[in-house]
Amino acid sequence: MEYTHDYLIIGGGMAADAAAKAIAEVQPGANIGIVGDEASPPYQRPPLSKALWKGDKSPADIDLGTAGSGAILHQGRRIESLDRAAHVARDDHGDTYHYRKLLLATGATSRQLPFEGGERIIHFRTLQDYQTLRHYAQPGAYIAVIGGGFIGCELAASLCSLGCKVTMLFPAQTLGAGRYPDDLAHNLDDYYRSKGVDLRSGVQVTGSQPTDGGVELTLSDGSLLRVEAAVAGIGVTPNTGLAEQAGLAVDNGIVVDAQLRTGDADIWAAGDVANFHSAALDRRMRVEHEDAAVSMGRHAGRAMTGISDDYTATPLFYSDMFDLGYEAVGLLDTRLQVVEDWREPYREGVVYYLDAGRVRGVLLWNVWDQVDAARELIAEVGPFDAASLRGRLPRNA
Ligand code: NAP
Repeated sequence: MEYTHDYLIIGGGMAADAAAKAIAEVQPGANIGIVGDEASPPYQRPPLSKALWKGDKSPADIDLGTAGSGAILHQGRRIESLDRAAHVARDDHGDTYHYRKLLLATGATSRQLPFEGGERIIHFRTLQDYQTLRHYAQPGAYIAVIGGGFIGCELAASLCSLGCKVTMLFPAQTLGAGRYPDDLAHNLDDYYRSKGVDLRSGVQVTGSQPTDGGVELTLSDGSLLRVEAAVAGIGVTPNTGLAEQAGLAVDNGIVVDAQLRTGDADIWAAGDVANFHSAALDRRMRVEHEDAAVSMGRHAGRAMTGISDDYTATPLFYSDMFDLGYEAVGLLDTRLQVVEDWREPYREGVVYYLDAGRVRGVLLWNVWDQVDAARELIAEVGPFDAASLRGRLPRNA
């Protein structure tokens, strides 16, 4: 088959959905095509590790309704080659897509454990992964969670709350190491233990064997762990292969300019895969969170229609772990100077991350409605120090 779209979006995630809706908003009836390799049309990804487990939402609720934008959805297809000169993309079924303007919203792929794990080890990223895990994660089941980052922490809390027995395995000494200050990270460990989660820090999973009704994991400390299933959240790598093959600049993601355009005047990139310059933080970065996917997708969609302003957003991110939750903006990196301002230690407060007197990140721990204030603080030139930051952001009454 041969398709022709004025606007072609490669990738079927949240950035793709936001771009299609933005294009349709500016040009109702625009000819938009989306090619996504997942079977499902674009859906909200954050509920996969949070709300779907609480019963607050069902898989049907997370559908983004992308088709309402008028976009044609080509699901279950992967674009394998791109001819920039001819403005044609070709998929894994041999079908071709002619385009006028193109968005690369190809996202990222879960980093894989270094061994063949079988079906009971789930590298968690998609709705399909959620459904596979849900099948094994019946109340009372024993599930190993590999990785102590966003997915690991959120899923361990969700699985434990569902009544599963949970062991977390991660290479660092604490949960959220490098992201949260040490005392907060240790406190988070204690909190998880108090909820019944078994934490094994400083370990890697080096191999696995299928067992009758489960899987046996081999750990780097020489021990074995027999569980019904294991779920891994050990980071992602951006899907830059197509851009590289097409000769676009790639450097920890697809390199885009202030308007999210690549070196090709007819191609943009957005979401997890895009490496952009943050004006507020004055550095190039990739952001792997929902708010970045949505805001960049929307911006790129508008840019593709000819609206040329710069992408200046500083995306927020958030997490829920049992009854703890936070919102954050900027860089959470403990190599920066860290200033903690607790209203109630480790339960409610603000953590600031500074570099040479400038605020580069703000962690709002159980503190709400302060994201815009945090963004403003990051934009201010300062200089700031611990004394000038304490009490700076209004906190909960
Ligand atoms: P992540 O947050 O980067 O965490 C990866 C974790 O895996 C780290 O704890 C890392 O430890 C550990 N790790 C690395 N290699 C390992 C190995 N071989 N064995 C065991 N652990 C290993 O990534 P993620 O949790 O996989 O999440 C994937 C993506 O989804 C990220 O981009 C994340 O931002 C996004 N996401 C975001 C949210 C949110 O915004 N709330 C929620 C879910 C997912 P070290 O740091 O010590 O290497």
